[in-house]
Amino acid sequence: MYGWNGKILRIDLTNNKSTIQIYDSNFALTYMGGRGFTTKILWDELAPGIDPLSPQNKLIVAAGPLTGLPGPSLGKLVVAAKSPLTGGYGDGNLGTMAAVHMRKAGLDALIIEGKAQKPIYIYVEDEKGYILSADGIWGETTFETEKRLKKAHGKNVGVLTIGPSGENMVKYATVVSQEGRAGGRPGMGAVMGSKKLKAIVFKGTRAVPLADAEGYKKLVNEAYDDIKSRDYYGFWIRQGTMATIEWCNENSVLPTNNFREGIFEFHRLIDGYALEAMKIKRRGCPYCNMMCGNVVLDSEGGESELDYENVAMLGSNIGLGHLGKVSVLNRMADELGIDTISLGNTLAFAMEATEKGLIKDGIEWGDYQKAKTLIQEIAYRKGELGNLLAEGVKTASQKLGGNSYRWAMHIKGLEVSAYDCHMVPGMALAFATSSIGAHHKEAWVIAWEIKTDRTGYTEAKVDKVIEFQRIRGGMFESLVSCRLPWIELGFELGWYPRLLKAATGIEIPLEKLLYTLADRIYALIRAFWIREQAQNWSRQMDHPPIRWFQEPLTKGPYKGAVLDKAKFDTLLDMYYTKRGWDRRGIPTKMTLEKLGLADVAQQLSNHVTLTP
Ligand code: SF4
Repeated sequence: MYGWNGKILRIDLTNNKSTIQIYDSNFALTYMGGRGFTTKILWDELAPGIDPLSPQNKLIVAAGPLTGLPGPSLGKLVVAAKSPLTGGYGDGNLGTMAAVHMRKAGLDALIIEGKAQKPIYIYVEDEKGYILSADGIWGETTFETEKRLKKAHGKNVGVLTIGPSGENMVKYATVVSQEGRAGGRPGMGAVMGSKKLKAIVFKGTRAVPLADAEGYKKLVNEAYDDIKSRDYYGFWIRQGTMATIEWCNENSVLPTNNFREGIFEFHRLIDGYALEAMKIKRRGCPYCNMMCGNVVLDSEGGESELDYENVAMLGSNIGLGHLGKVSVLNRMADELGIDTISLGNTLAFAMEATEKGLIKDGIEWGDYQKAKTLIQEIAYRKGELGNLLAEGVKTASQKLGGNSYRWAMHIKGLEVSAYDCHMVPGMALAFATSSIGAHHKEAWVIAWEIKTDRTGYTEAKVDKVIEFQRIRGGMFESLVSCRLPWIELGFELGWYPRLLKAATGIEIPLEKLLYTLADRIYALIRAFWIREQAQNWSRQMDHPPIRWFQEPLTKGPYKGAVLDKAKFDTLLDMYYTKRGWDRRGIPTKMTLEKLGLADVAQQLSNHVTLTP
């Protein structure tokens, strides 16, 4: 095969063994890579109902057929496992030299199973995996760990690591690389911690096999030029995703005080222009020519890499209007290996619980010093409050009781990311039906929705959510490629089949990537959730938080706005119908069979009654 290496490295930490597994072109073409591979492997290999933090869970690291090759924003991989935060399918992507080195090592994926007896890390060099002692790095921050591992193995390696929060199994601990590239919001770092796995180091020295090396090179040069020629390129280079703060505030969707409001009076102090005044350099993922990691010197003199999501969640959402201080909180999260989105959401939950008297001596809105202390307490699970908040807002609200479920802003257990949806039903549907819980990456329809019709509950919105899920959650996540050249600069989707053809020698039409591959992945991820939840599954799990339905905005031009529950249910019904799922949100037998998942239908029918 060209493009794919055709090899997966399986590492069994319990028995200290590593083996190479060969796969064929049928597997490659059916699941492509990245999320396609992780979904299929987790479905096949995990027993239903396992404890996500037990040795029975598996951590999968997977790249795609274009990963490791030069090309616009292609240096990414996916990390996945059963999520300890949500109990369902969990994954995340991150741009890192680890992706490049894994492919150059002759591998397309890693399956890590079992549990080590003592802290260890994995070193992979050209198809060989070694399990080495993590003495001296266990307990260290992600930044320090990567530095030490590069000292040990040389600068020319790729590193994935967890921080103290992963070691302490904080439920929203992430996997971090290169001091700011983080992925795996639903607790992929905690899964590593549960296995006593501190880090994975990749070193690859081989070339990825290409069908048409000359043609690929020519195409890639044209693609880079295309990106640079786009009108918005210059401004993107200045502000990257941080321009979104101003846009969100203008449109009343900037999460403020735990998603109570969509406007923040101090938004100017944390927006893209405030960033420009502080910026010292840019960083980014491998092979990217529109790098969006804007680095600033924070209020304590550290380097912090900012983007929209972390600034909104650790800024306006907790009532903190000071970019230098927001940057400190962001750097702490990256160093400790905690997801910034869930962290900002959880801190805001605690602030509201303090305001309403459910937490005594808790934390006030915008209290920077207390936020710093609390982040440490969460990462190390210190004290009653730190330990409670380390569970995420769903479990924290269940334990805290009172009415706190009313301000626990999550869907399926994953904290909502940085868009307030009081008045954007299409975006609410996107959050509700995302594969991992309330995350924006799969169907960021909000810009389109605000431009076209923000109030309607229309079929067009359902179509747009599904279209974006196919492109972003299906195609990009399985290639594995960054979506930003396409969504931000208008880099056409037609480039990807051309790049694939040059790399693999196979004509794979865009329609096939979107309508067969992506739909198959969505149905399989949904089947995973249903198998885990079995009789507990209900369409209620696809519902946005109660706040957006019942507590209107009190400020700004959209004062009084709320989502309409009955109309939202109509949207959800339309979504299910178009996906070929029944009214419970479960794929029908016919849909699964049509997507080549007859065996999945068979297995799933052992857990729930399938609609024919
Ligand atoms: S645009 Fe940003 S996230 Fe995307 S590949 Fe480039 S640096 Fe990474």
